[in-house]
Amino acid sequence: MLIKTEGFVLKNKKYAETDSMLTLFTRMVGKVNVIAKGARRPKSNLLAGIQPFCYSDFVLYKGRSLYTVSQCEAKKIFYEIREDLDCLSYGAYLLELVEAVTNEGQTNNRLFNLLGKTLSIITNKDIELQTIVRAFELKLLFYSGFKPHLTSCVNCNAQQFKQIRFSVEEGGIICPQCFQVDPFATKISETAVRLANYLLNKDIIEIQKLKVNETLNKELKIILKKYIMVHINKYQFKSLEMLDKL
Ligand SMILES: [Zn+2]
Repeated sequence: MLIKTEGFVLKNKKYAETDSMLTLFTRMVGKVNVIAKGARRPKSNLLAGIQPFCYSDFVLYKGRSLYTVSQCEAKKIFYEIREDLDCLSYGAYLLELVEAVTNEGQTNNRLFNLLGKTLSIITNKDIELQTIVRAFELKLLFYSGFKPHLTSCVNCNAQQFKQIRFSVEEGGIICPQCFQVDPFATKISETAVRLANYLLNKDIIEIQKLKVNETLNKELKIILKKYIMVHINKYQFKSLEMLDKL
């Protein structure tokens, strides 16, 4: 069976002598592992479209147990991402996140569109990379069914309260009356909650104009890091380890 689909290359690994094993996030079949036969030969006509970050048109052949690439044509290569180390590391982080939340055979068009827009935005020199990454994390959680509850107390639904804590376990903010449900919940400022809601709901194209105070961004970063670990069950990101070593 042949499947024609657009897709992002999340990973490209060596496979056998001259082949590559790709992990793609496609519009038609979600995440899928495919073999690109002969792709490691210098003259392979697949080469251009199968590097990580490539957005390409694929024709995939579905065999009994494996997919192989029949044709591939690069639509957008995102060269600029590789030119800056921060950009490259965060770009790689976005791909790792997508790989972690997607399932084989399950499409996710909202996440697909978000990834395309975000990869374009992060090559722009005027944006705050950190803010875009926070927005991407929140939206990815939303589109993959792990949206944190940020509009009322996740436990009792109270609407307005001054002291706010964020409970990773409960999956959202809690009010002082409910602090006892999670002794490990951490303090979160009202501004950080408002920012998170804004990042969740605004189009990422709009968000690229936003300037966020560094302390506020950091506050959200720490909370989201824990939330991502627990809810998508991923504790290590190679891309982030690279950044920490710089
Ligand atoms: Zn409550």
